[in-house]
Amino acid sequence: NQPLADLDPEIAAVLDDELARQRGTLEMIASENFVPRAVLQAQGSVLTNKYAEGYPGRRYYGGCEVVDVAESLAIERAKAVFGAEWANVQPHSGAQANAAVLHALADGGDTILGLSLAHGGHLTHGMKINFSGKNYHATAYGVDETTHRIEMEQVREAALRERPRVIIAGWSAYPRHLDFEAFRSIADEVGAALWTDMAHFAGLVAAGLHPSPLPWSDVVSTTVHKTLGGPRSGMLLTNRADQWGKKLNSAVFPGQQGGPLMHVIAAKAVAMKIAGTDEFKDRQARTVEGAAILAQRLLADDVAAAGIKLVTGGTDVHLVLVDLRDSALDGQQAEDLLHDAGITVNRNAVPFDPRPPRVTSGLRIGTPALATRGFGPTEFTEVADIIATALVAGAAGKADEELLAGLRGRVRTLTDAFPLYPGLAQ
Ligand code: PLP
Repeated sequence: NQPLADLDPEIAAVLDDELARQRGTLEMIASENFVPRAVLQAQGSVLTNKYAEGYPGRRYYGGCEVVDVAESLAIERAKAVFGAEWANVQPHSGAQANAAVLHALADGGDTILGLSLAHGGHLTHGMKINFSGKNYHATAYGVDETTHRIEMEQVREAALRERPRVIIAGWSAYPRHLDFEAFRSIADEVGAALWTDMAHFAGLVAAGLHPSPLPWSDVVSTTVHKTLGGPRSGMLLTNRADQWGKKLNSAVFPGQQGGPLMHVIAAKAVAMKIAGTDEFKDRQARTVEGAAILAQRLLADDVAAAGIKLVTGGTDVHLVLVDLRDSALDGQQAEDLLHDAGITVNRNAVPFDPRPPRVTSGLRIGTPALATRGFGPTEFTEVADIIATALVAGAAGKADEELLAGLRGRVRTLTDAFPLYPGLAQ
């Protein structure tokens, strides 16, 4: 029963240092968020001790009557939040949720069609050395060369050419809404199942700020830890439970996983309770508003003059994709520069990127974590100006220590005004 600090001071120091890092910087990685204290509490609980292979009421272990309550609550709340007929809350992660979807919807060697990784798709949508590219015949549609948007006529052409068993809608780096109705009609035309991976925008869907893929998709997968703001994990939903429910359940367990992480499932239940509140809706609205404010600032003349643009010229969601192809900065340099100013983002390939994936010509900048921290339009306007100032100076070779110290001071004012996890000591 030794406390962590006594038993393992090295790991205790990691926890302390990471808390300090999160408190003292502006977190703008589009796929990250800050979970509420209640989620931390559920996740760091004795439920981690319990084996519960199977599903509520149908377990392969004794003593599951308590954890059954947690999983049933998570399922019912997830269904209510998304207006779904059916949910499976056991996937350990987004990637495992996606593995289960393909396991249920297709057979090894079948053709699948998703957004190209280079244009904003995810590894699990058919990347060559991922399970999805190794076990299935992965084909891709891309964004349009001029608009950089997913144009549905081009998706249709790809579907007619490839005749996939599964069409995948969803992305990791794309700043616009998807036309799910059009995806459905293409899937019907070629006899494919439609799988939507809403990992990035699930929080917006839950808040009614993004079209829902549920009415149109055979299966919807999501992570719980991005805009949705819950514990790191995955989830499956469908409104075609008669057709897919059994297959999906057995694809998750025993198809892909063994014992579910009951502590994480309890934390998912908490996150789904929060996702049903007005406070959550307000947070998602500030997330989208913050991204729009950031886009507006990055479209201003001083930024354009530095050769910096936005993919698709703006955003409908919680992130912007900065296009550095015509700027003196590459993605790595821009990421490092913002890091030195106290802002954490990730470099990201932009469509038709001439630079290698380790360098890239883009930045993906998201607002979910800062909205959770409490930021509204005033703070996002300041953040946007800090980012624009850093990038413009960097592109001109003028981001010296004096400029960066000034920007760090502005970041500090914001982080001090919005304390993260006040009172928490790990
Ligand atoms: N799906 C999409 C669209 C994602 O962006 C991600 C993560 O970045 C995943 C799935 C995978 O989630 P995880 O990292 O939990 O495996």
